[in-house]
Parts: sequence; C-alpha cells; structure tokens
Amino acid sequence: MPVRRGSGQMAKPKPTKLPREKILSIAEKAAAAFSYSVDYDIERVVQDLGGRIHLNDFWDNAAKTGSLTVHGLRNFEIFVPSHTTHERDQFTIAHELGHYILHYLPNVDPRAEAELQIDRYGDSAIEAEANLFAYAFLMPEILFREAYTRFEGNLSAVASTFRVSEVAARMRAKMLGLHGDGERKPKAARSAANIPAA
Ligand SMILES: [Zn+2]
Repeated sequence: MPVRRGSGQMAKPKPTKLPREKILSIAEKAAAAFSYSVDYDIERVVQDLGGRIHLNDFWDNAAKTGSLTVHGLRNFEIFVPSHTTHERDQFTIAHELGHYILHYLPNVDPRAEAELQIDRYGDSAIEAEANLFAYAFLMPEILFREAYTRFEGNLSAVASTFRVSEVAARMRAKMLGLHGDGERKPKAARSAANIPAA
C-alpha cells in the first residue's frame, strides 16, 4: 500500500500495471458511470466526485502542466494551467481524474485520510496510464468511431464534437487504427476534394 495515514508525507503513487485494454475499459466505464458527455462537463464530474478545480498562476514555474492533490476520499484538488485552451484543459482534467481513479482509489483505505500528490515529475508509467484513461474517458471507442465515420475522417470536426484538441483526436484515431485526414488511403486517392481544409 503506497498510501499511508498520518505520516505527514505524501505517498508515492504506483502504476496499476494493468493491461492497456483494461485501463481503456475502466475509463469508458467511469465516463458512463459519472454521466460524462460533452453536455455534462468534466468540471461537473469532478465536483460530483468531491473534487475541486483550480487554475494555476501563470507566473508559477511549476504550473505549466496539471497536477493532482488528494486529501482523502472524495476530497481532492486538480490544478490546471491558467493560460491554456478549454480543449487542453479538458484533457488535463481527465488525465488527473485518471490518476485519482487508477492510482488513488485502489490503494486507499476509505477510513483513512490518506493523501497523495501527483505532478508531472511522477513516474512515466503512471503518466502513460493516466493518458490512456483520458483518451478513452473523453473519446469512448464506439462514439469516436461513429463520429469518425460521420465526418469522414475529418479530425478537426471529430475533435470539436468531443471538445478536445485535434492533436488528441488524432492520437485517439491512431490508437483505434483509424487513419485521419490526408492519411486516408482509398478516399484521398480518389478525390482531392476529400481532403479537409486545415
Ligand atoms: Zn499525470
């Protein structure tokens, strides 16, 4: 158990070491269980779970990425940079939520006021797990495939649907073996009109 009570020290989080598919599935189930959708903001999900979101001070050097501070069960704070886009913040919040669900909840004794601090200087395995969680939480596979088909692989349109950055949508497409935009082989070869404007 990496999380201890009353020691005055923040515990060091451990990766779940679960298979990739399992983490993606946990994230999708969490999104469904917490009623997350583009019409039910992730900020509300965080609130429902007892969390609070704060903007970091632009001038704080340590504030360039998100971080998570857990004070106990249903009592946590997510910090996001103050100078980033809403799309970027969505991903940051989902990533930090991933840490809470993957790296805090399984390790905590619900009776204890266990604390945990995770920032970007953490272990790269936990960062990779939180990223997987964020992709699947914000862009569940079935919905993503539907949107991808509807917009004929136009990742800019797909990204808008999920309110994420195009970079994030592109990564999710890649994870699902989909080819985005100009990468589309058969269609792009047939007609240049299929290539969306940048
Ligand atoms: Zn992280």
